[in-house]
Amino acid sequence: MFDLAIKRARVVGEASVDYANIYVKDGVFAGFSTEVLAARETVDADGRYVFPGGVDPHVHFNDPGLTDGEDFQTGTMAAVAGGITTVFEMPLTVPLTADKPSFMLKRREAEKKAVADFGIYLALTPDNSASLPSLMDLQPIGFKAFMSYSPEIPMVKDGELLEGMRAIKAVGSRIAVHCENNDLIAFLTAKLQSQGRDGPRAYMDSRPDYSEWEAIQRAVTLAKIAGVQLHIVHSSTPEGARIVARARGEGHPVSVETAQHFLFLDETDFERIGPMAQCNPPLRAAGNADLLWEAIKTRQIDCVGTDHAPYTFEEKLAGNGSVWKTPAGINNIQSAIPLLIGEGLARNISPVRLAEIYATAPARIFGIYPRKGAITIGADADMFIFDPDEHWTVDPARTFYKQKWTPFEGKPVRGRIKKTWVRGTVVYDDAGEQGTITVDPGFGRFVPGFVWA
Ligand SMILES: [Zn+2]
Repeated sequence: MFDLAIKRARVVGEASVDYANIYVKDGVFAGFSTEVLAARETVDADGRYVFPGGVDPHVHFNDPGLTDGEDFQTGTMAAVAGGITTVFEMPLTVPLTADKPSFMLKRREAEKKAVADFGIYLALTPDNSASLPSLMDLQPIGFKAFMSYSPEIPMVKDGELLEGMRAIKAVGSRIAVHCENNDLIAFLTAKLQSQGRDGPRAYMDSRPDYSEWEAIQRAVTLAKIAGVQLHIVHSSTPEGARIVARARGEGHPVSVETAQHFLFLDETDFERIGPMAQCNPPLRAAGNADLLWEAIKTRQIDCVGTDHAPYTFEEKLAGNGSVWKTPAGINNIQSAIPLLIGEGLARNISPVRLAEIYATAPARIFGIYPRKGAITIGADADMFIFDPDEHWTVDPARTFYKQKWTPFEGKPVRGRIKKTWVRGTVVYDDAGEQGTITVDPGFGRFVPGFVWA
């Protein structure tokens, strides 16, 4: 007897979409069949898609310390409502997640609050390389470093980054790097400020695409020297994807994610929306998104992440629109996957490829496949029903975000998530005004990072 049957599903598998009934036992996928088998509970997918739950390699839930913006409860509620069932949380919290006490503090908060499963990054800072061996029993999902200034985490210079990469290689983990050239940005920013410019156009001019891909090139070079597994986060430029694809082709373990906002928003949106569309790297020229979609098709881009980075209304608006005073970050986790699938299908990308870029690829890159990231026998039964025919519009008031804003406000979406499961348990049901979370905070479980022994 199975615990759960989802009948009449268009199952998005790793190689094909098949019409079948899905069977779950003890929280994992236990069988697929066109026959009707006995189960304690049956859900009728009514011919709609069942996609694997998303693995988001890049979220900021601000917990602990910055929870006016978001916390593990609101963040993961929005995640599962958006089909994301596993998140990797970034270390830019207070305290910075850079040692054992700060990691355990974050893990305890998440274990109390999360409704999705979660992995936790550790920060690579200029001075914690030597301590990495003592941190590996925490089982971080990986390390995160910044090549450019951030108000929340000390940046690493090239020497420090290489030393950190060598240390990470030695302990068998991986590094995710925010790539922007700090010197170029500082130089251009000073110049633009001296001209009295402080609007979106100035911000984009202060962080041109070459200031990003130059840093990607440098990070890839250093990773080759160290032999470490490198993941480039939120690349906004097709050139960055090409650089990574070339190194991957040479056999180096490098990967690249793009952030979902780069697939949908551009400079015209930044000028129209203002602070709520300010992010690092910044939105790019009109037409850039098409090039990124092309790079997804040609497999130069491995995966997508949301880079959900909530600030409060107050923080976002404190600078009165001056881009030099506005914090960079975008709320988007709840609408990211529906937007991606709807637009991807419209661009003739197969459901299989779409599932690969938001679930299977990040799970593989971070070593948690096949437990996560695919609808396959033995994997955690993380999935959602997706109705491609239901159209709706993004409304921040109907999200679970603690701060109810998003630059996607008013964006039409093709396709809707009807129900989400984590490990075979329904966690979200698209019922009522904004949908319902059907498990208690603390349902989410820690996902340990895989370490090469
Ligand atoms: Zn980020």
